[in-house]
Amino acid sequence: MADTPVNWPFTPSPLAIDIVGAQGCHLHARDGRKILDAAGGAMVVNIGHGRREPGEAMARASSAVSYVIPPFVTPQRMQLAERLQRDWLPPGFTRLHLSSGGSEAVETAIKLARQHHFAKGDTGKWKVIGRDLSYHGATVATLEIGGHAARRAPVAAMARETPKAPPHYCLRCPLGKTYPTCDVACADEVEAIILREGPDTVAGVIAEPVVGSSGGALEPPPGYWRKLRAICDRHDVVLIADEVVTGFGRTGVRFASEGEGALPDIIATAKGMSGGYAPIGGTFATERIAEPLERTGDAPMFYTFSAHPAACAAADAVLDILSKEDLMARARVMGDRLGARLQRLKQHPNVAEVRGRGLLRAIEIVRDRETLERFPAEANITMKVLNGGLAENVYFYPGGTGAQRDVIVLAPPFIVTDAEIETMCAVLERAIDRAVEGDSLSSRA
Ligand code: PMP
Repeated sequence: MADTPVNWPFTPSPLAIDIVGAQGCHLHARDGRKILDAAGGAMVVNIGHGRREPGEAMARASSAVSYVIPPFVTPQRMQLAERLQRDWLPPGFTRLHLSSGGSEAVETAIKLARQHHFAKGDTGKWKVIGRDLSYHGATVATLEIGGHAARRAPVAAMARETPKAPPHYCLRCPLGKTYPTCDVACADEVEAIILREGPDTVAGVIAEPVVGSSGGALEPPPGYWRKLRAICDRHDVVLIADEVVTGFGRTGVRFASEGEGALPDIIATAKGMSGGYAPIGGTFATERIAEPLERTGDAPMFYTFSAHPAACAAADAVLDILSKEDLMARARVMGDRLGARLQRLKQHPNVAEVRGRGLLRAIEIVRDRETLERFPAEANITMKVLNGGLAENVYFYPGGTGAQRDVIVLAPPFIVTDAEIETMCAVLERAIDRAVEGDSLSSRA
């Protein structure tokens, strides 16, 4: 460590642990601890830590072509684009834009939806409808379309407000309904918003196929995406799937939206595309979306580091490993095992729900399981569970949005073993016990 004290991170965090190495599902701390990465970083790491191939591919790429602006063709760009189209993208997704991460990928997607209409002459169509409890990124525009109220609050004045639809949060249905008698009314609300705002003002609808960390692995009820698709078709609205978390096998299929029986028009991705080995994001669209832009000579976002050759090489190597080692199938199998093991936590008096799909799982902790009363924010239950996990060398992801709280996300690498699943679940249970200890109103007391 440097002798000069440095301000890292920007503001203090309990997670400022000095990590000097990482292998498989473990982070190696300078003090010798091996921390089990139950969160895959931030739902990113899929092939596991410490593989040599991505780094070697990056070194080769950098020595060959360190940098050229995105419109230039390089072997790394072409190889990744070909692989994406051949092995990963759903049929019809023929237009590819690469950026440096999830926020940029989503920002590109919402801008593209707007550009699509603008190029067609529908200049009034600009609003992108998001949903409460969703998260789409940390830029001002992506915070605005997202439903992470706590992160949006400080920048709200800087963006034009757009309406939010209710999430499919069946545990606490915002419409007070119950599936299946609800007939997926939360999707109908999207149409009600479009009609209220005026279809000639709405450019797009954006949704995470399985809401990641902000909601805590909220799965859509069957039929939700088919309804969204039909609504968007009725009103000439672009449907955007934010697959930044769910893409590239995290839920056991290539893209979670593909499994819903209704394809979007634009898919935004990042995280798993490079498994954490390089910063890269992708925005993929159909011909129908791109064609009007082509006519007007407009193009999606230009970022200096879009399709960076070394990042493309890393992503290509990671996607190659995912395919060759059939790791998506492993995510399905181990995801089922993690889900089954977590079900045992459902017996815990402070666990309201265990949810998710594949290797994207979450639990919601409450004070009272009958009434679903949450712990007060000041109780800091999520941070206590996180710290309790770290005390036993397991790292969990803190989910939620502030108001939506005490959601713990588990999203380990796809190579996770049964023994590691057992460790993370046993530690999680003990961490919850300790976090709620002494709360006289808890259902445990
Ligand atoms: N969309 C979703 C669903 C996410 O979970 C995230 C990040 N957690 C983002 C977008 C933004 O990605 P990034 O942090 O790479 O900018």
